[in-house]
Amino acid sequence: MTAERDGSNPAAEGASPPRIIAVGSGKGGVGKSTVSTNLAVALIKAGYKVGLVDADIYGPSQSRLLGTEGKRPVARDKRLIPVESEWDVPVLSMAHLAEPGQAIAWRGPMASNALVQMLEGDWTGVDVLVVDLPPGTGDIQLTMLQRFKPDGAVIVSTPQDLALLDATRAMGLFDKAGVPVIGLVENMAGYVCPHCGETSDPFGIGGAQSAADERDCRFLGRIPLDITIRRDSDAGIPPAAGQGPQAQAFAAIAAGVTE
Ligand code: ADP
Repeated sequence: MTAERDGSNPAAEGASPPRIIAVGSGKGGVGKSTVSTNLAVALIKAGYKVGLVDADIYGPSQSRLLGTEGKRPVARDKRLIPVESEWDVPVLSMAHLAEPGQAIAWRGPMASNALVQMLEGDWTGVDVLVVDLPPGTGDIQLTMLQRFKPDGAVIVSTPQDLALLDATRAMGLFDKAGVPVIGLVENMAGYVCPHCGETSDPFGIGGAQSAADERDCRFLGRIPLDITIRRDSDAGIPPAAGQGPQAQAFAAIAAGVTE
């Protein structure tokens, strides 16, 4: 099975390509990779067979988020075989291809080539391919949209006005390419103090929902700024794999994505 849409790859014969869901954001650091990982895990818990491509070529983080650091994909018939993770999410990331800590100083065409290699990996048996896009609207996004048109896009934003403005730009890119925006996820929304339990909203509240409403875009839900999400993610344990409120929040988003 290949993710390429034109069906020209003989390996694709007899198998339907996975549905591609691109996860994008207008800027970095808003939790796009965290949402991608946990969306993939939540979809698996909901019964889908899910793979993940880390298209954030210059800042790959999926090997850490899925606890697959140090693993290397092998190639069969010139196609990369995704790396297996403990969470049943096969994954391909530049972090599996580059030396640990190596700076990836590639020009656009090389980076786009890496993206193609990963998307044309052996995704046999996968129903949904979640693609963690780099932030913004550059070369990688264009290659993705032109060559592997996603079936839908999920946009991640924090509640600040500036992040929302950037998120609106990212939505515009998908709109222009004819890729339906499935919805908007508001991340780092509300902070529950681990000491006193008081909730505060350092970045404001409700901004993402109204930005979604204004654009006639579905609001998929909010994930709070939560120390356990950061801690578990850094340890390669996706919070969506657990049973806590974080897992429920990601499950609700996954349900919205597949509705
Ligand atoms: P992006 O992909 O948008 O650059 P990341 O997913 O890498 O962002 O997240 C940036 C940092 O914020 C990471 O350290 C991550 O663990 C942390 N983070 C993301 N979402 C949350 C959240 N809801 N609560 C706490 N920390 C978060």
